[in-house]
Amino acid sequence: MRRRCFEGSRDAMTYVIGKECIDAQDHACVDVCPVDCIYEGPRKNYINPTECIDCGACEIACPEVAIFPARKARGDEERLQFTADNAAFFALPLPGLTEPLGDPGGAEPLGPVAADTPLVAGWPTK
Ligand code: SF4
Repeated sequence: MRRRCFEGSRDAMTYVIGKECIDAQDHACVDVCPVDCIYEGPRKNYINPTECIDCGACEIACPEVAIFPARKARGDEERLQFTADNAAFFALPLPGLTEPLGDPGGAEPLGPVAADTPLVAGWPTK
């Protein structure tokens, strides 16, 4: 059974990928995700908040230590910013696209997404 804190809500963000992923994009997280819910943008990966089953495998696998559970964003402005941004990647139309991605049901069949969120696209390069 899928475990959710807030079933059916975009606030149900479970695990989040933070700024450390930008321009690093190690694919270890993608390889271990049992439900293929980690989507690839040009500069960063994003976890779909409604497809994630909250297993934690990606957090352990990430060599950049970029992934955290959303509950650990409380009181941390930057983590809160990236929590909202991960959800926005799916909920809002990305630059150059007319429709939101929504919940595609699998990153591999979709392939790389052509745009990042405005936050990530404008993030300074390392
Ligand atoms: Fe995938 Fe589990 Fe990470 Fe969610 S917590 S993105 S299901 S590996």
